Amino acid sequence: MNASARPESRDHGAHDHDHSTCVSDALARAQACCEERGARLTPLRRRVLEALADSHAPLGAYDLVERLGASGDRPAPMSVYRALDFLVAEGLAHRIESRNAYMACGRAHGRDDVIVFLICERCGLTSEVASHAIGRDLAWATRAAGFTPRTPVIEIAGTCARCEAAPVRQGASAAAG
Ligand SMILES: [Zn+2]
Ligand SMILES: [Zn+2]
Repeated sequence: MNASARPESRDHGAHDHDHSTCVSDALARAQACCEERGARLTPLRRRVLEALADSHAPLGAYDLVERLGASGDRPAPMSVYRALDFLVAEGLAHRIESRNAYMACGRAHGRDDVIVFLICERCGLTSEVASHAIGRDLAWATRAAGFTPRTPVIEIAGTCARCEAAPVRQGASAAAG
């Protein structure tokens, strides 16, 4: 059975939409959040957020050092970690534990929402959905167990819609490692 579809040669995590929108949305939200809370969006914090928003796959701290170094001053890894800590603390970025990587967040989450990360094992595309219903159920279940959850986050590995639709090439399938 030969796949008649055209071979896909897209970038990892390529989307149909315009990336610049993600970036400008993320930066605008960050600017507004920081002003509201009196926090400072330093140039490095801004550059880190910009790089995260520009990528639809989560980036590790060292990926960020490389990316930022390629487009300007190469920051020290420690500074990047501090910028990431800030972004996560302000809710502008999320840490994907299973990948030890980070992604920009373009929305405000409700206090009881559980964030569900959908991570494509083939291309790395990671998207998020928030669920109030799951959050309520989880809160109930954890409370019943006498447990206080710190980070209500669920990470689900699988296949994104684009990869699901794309033909799997023989010998070129992603080896998970
Ligand atoms: Zn988010
Ligand atoms: Zn995918």
